[in-house]
Amino acid sequence: MAASCAQCGRTAAADDRFCGGCGSELSTPCTHCSRPLPTDAAFCTACGRPQQRTPGRSVPCTRTVGGSASCSST
Ligand SMILES: [Zn+2]
Ligand SMILES: [Zn+2]
Repeated sequence: MAASCAQCGRTAAADDRFCGGCGSELSTPCTHCSRPLPTDAAFCTACGRPQQRTPGRSVPCTRTVGGSASCSST
């Protein structure tokens, strides 16, 4: 299965993780089993675990503690 770069359109090999044309990321490893996945994959195709990444989407901080916003990710 050939992938193509979302940034420059260059065709990449299935196991390429970065674009050879512009260097942008083509895939990222599963956070659980490290299998290379497309950057837009919501779930791992190897272990089925949901991926924590939210590309292109910012998560608004809706939680407030003691009157001040608290969105610590640590
Ligand atoms: Zn590219
Ligand atoms: Zn996995």
